[in-house]
Amino acid sequence: SVGAEALYGPADPLSILNKESVTRAVFNSSSAWLLEFYSSWCGHCINYAPTWRALARDVSDWDPAIKIGVLDCAEEDNYGTCKDFGVTLYPTFRFFKAFTTEFTQGENYKAGNDREIQTVRQVIIDFLQTSPAQSKPQACPTLEPISSSEISSLLTQKQSHYTAIIFESEESYVGREVMLDLIRYSNMVVRRALPSDKAILEKLGIGSVPSCYLIQPNGSHGLIKEVKCLRAQLSSHLKALPNVRKRLPSDTAHSGLNKDAQQGDVAMKEFDRSKLYMADLESGLHYVLRAELANHRTLEGEKLKTFKDFVTILYKLFPGRPHVMKLLETLQEWLVSMPLDKIPYDAILDLVNNRMRISGIFLTNHTQWVGCRGSKSHLRGYPCSLWKLFHSLTVQASVKPDALANTALGADPQAVLQTMRSYIREFFGCRECAKHFEAMAKETMDSVRTPDQAVLWLWRKHNAVNNRLSGAPSEDPKFPKVQWPTSDLCSACHGQTGGGTQSWNENEVLSFLKRYYGKQEISLEFAD
Ligand code: FAD
Repeated sequence: SVGAEALYGPADPLSILNKESVTRAVFNSSSAWLLEFYSSWCGHCINYAPTWRALARDVSDWDPAIKIGVLDCAEEDNYGTCKDFGVTLYPTFRFFKAFTTEFTQGENYKAGNDREIQTVRQVIIDFLQTSPAQSKPQACPTLEPISSSEISSLLTQKQSHYTAIIFESEESYVGREVMLDLIRYSNMVVRRALPSDKAILEKLGIGSVPSCYLIQPNGSHGLIKEVKCLRAQLSSHLKALPNVRKRLPSDTAHSGLNKDAQQGDVAMKEFDRSKLYMADLESGLHYVLRAELANHRTLEGEKLKTFKDFVTILYKLFPGRPHVMKLLETLQEWLVSMPLDKIPYDAILDLVNNRMRISGIFLTNHTQWVGCRGSKSHLRGYPCSLWKLFHSLTVQASVKPDALANTALGADPQAVLQTMRSYIREFFGCRECAKHFEAMAKETMDSVRTPDQAVLWLWRKHNAVNNRLSGAPSEDPKFPKVQWPTSDLCSACHGQTGGGTQSWNENEVLSFLKRYYGKQEISLEFAD
């Protein structure tokens, strides 16, 4: 398994959901929810996790009104759930209104690509404020500004609690943030008001906005001068007033849901770094067919074409064992016999899963990483296997240059690369990766003229990615990003190094790649 809850752990102030708990959590909940559907292997999700964690901590006091959760779509148990929620790219952010009693896929987070903490906080407020009355969380205060007459009556009526009034412009979020920060605190009511009534402003001595005004339980009132009228300072000040106390949380959702969370180290298998393992290739193929593609309800247009090309390439070039090749052949024949312009993916899954019972056809139905195993459960795994898969396919295409001649793809030296390019663009769940890869492909993929050049092109681009990702949070410290192959794997590949720059002997690199990714050398150890 890729590893559940790997990016987030029990210490994080958010709910780690899975296929069972997500329904329980978001349906008919007294609070709204904002969920991150992520994939533990997606580098961008790994990079973003600290921000999401910090956001959850930042708004943890808003919990009665909105809860923050995460769900790992790379966890096998959750594949079907992510599909039900229509999640195909990672990370995907969805809001769920309070008191939802019908299945809903939630509403997409709308604020461009800026997911800094402050922006997310404001998007949450907009969401709560625009929710219709029947789905407004009970705990959510009135986020609208109060009128002059309400202010006047607050100033004259005796209350048993404090009332803080934040005078601010319409677009300021300070008042609403402080209101939500204080919803779990007793003896404190926070309101906001616009600076529209000059007479009131004058009477209260308010010269500029934002300004914060406090009415004491005993009726005395005045401007808060101890702190600036900024969210963090003001919230801390109000929370610390005498007799203002935090109420205990109304439920214990977090502790219950996070019970099996773990961020643990993974026991490493003893494996040989100089070898390619069939277990990695087959696990990657399993993930492609049963998880990544299965996120799409139907395949049509570019997606269907890409899928068909990919299956053709796999059927002709995957260096697999007979029972896997039989599955690919069955799939290929079925696709050729189905001249449909739209195929429900369930039909493909049915074929991949059920035909396996027929003897002689089988593809492992779980991931078993060996050379792609990370030292932590969220590192390496699937993207590692996808690289290896495509390297193997380019090598097979150069060993068998005529393999695709009689297929729809024809004997095109770029066939594997262009299919990989479409696959990454149409299906690869990591958006950032796809963007980067497309940029590289656009630049130079068209210059590839022979199958050997295709092998070298992919090697060169993979090294460019390694170079870019060196030191990134998705780097496994036990498997640092290096220019590959290192000299212990292939000393002849390395030319003279002058002036600190790496130079390659590309003929040697090509021979090495053909050997390393060649069919004969694949180790069957650990393969099912
Ligand atoms: P990987 O880079 O996955 O390599 C797997 C194995 O391939 C290595 O262990 C080694 O045996 C071999 N190898 C290494 N270099 C080469 C080479 N040059 N030629 C041939 N074989 C080699 N992650 C991000 O965070 N940001 C991105 O933009 C991004 N873009 C990606 C684009 C694509 C197309 C893919 C498939 C993945 C992308 N990733 C990205 C994921 C990232 O490249 C790694 O796959 C992931 O971090 C796991 O790293 P790894 O240590 O297992 O090594």
